[in-house]
Amino acid sequence: MKLNKKNIAFIILAACIAIGYVIPEDLVIPVEGATVSDWNSQSFWFEPWGKSGVHKGIDIFGSKGQRLNSSSRGMVVFTGDIAIGGKVVLILGPKWKLHYYAHLNSVSVGLFRFLSSGSQIGTIGDSGNAKGKPPHLHYSIVTVIPYFWKIDSSTQGWKKMFFLDPGKELLN
Ligand SMILES: [Zn+2]
Repeated sequence: MKLNKKNIAFIILAACIAIGYVIPEDLVIPVEGATVSDWNSQSFWFEPWGKSGVHKGIDIFGSKGQRLNSSSRGMVVFTGDIAIGGKVVLILGPKWKLHYYAHLNSVSVGLFRFLSSGSQIGTIGDSGNAKGKPPHLHYSIVTVIPYFWKIDSSTQGWKKMFFLDPGKELLN
């Protein structure tokens, strides 16, 4: 292969993607003190579910103000207050996976902060469309690089190439 600018750019990109896969995830359950019994393993892809049709994550229940940690190492790429999710944090972790935390009571990290697994990002709550419901963390994991083999015939099944089952990921 001739090393022109285009090829060098491609090699750098491929190397960056590869590095993302080498970094271990070291996932931990993000709600401090929670166990597998604090979420329903059937809640991933549960339908019908609000405006989005199917539930593309799991809900980990707890008490308002309970400490919320990053389940992976990674970098904070978004924090904000949005209509459905309420107070949310989005973290880019290893293997090009985005970790989405919603309905927080408080957010304690800033944009572009690097975090290790288990470091605090806020507290759980009932913000956004969780108002009036028991406080819980809505947790989704989205892979930036599509997993085409995960597509199935369920409702919106093609989106399963992006949305991974956080319950299964945590127990891996
Ligand atoms: Zn949810």
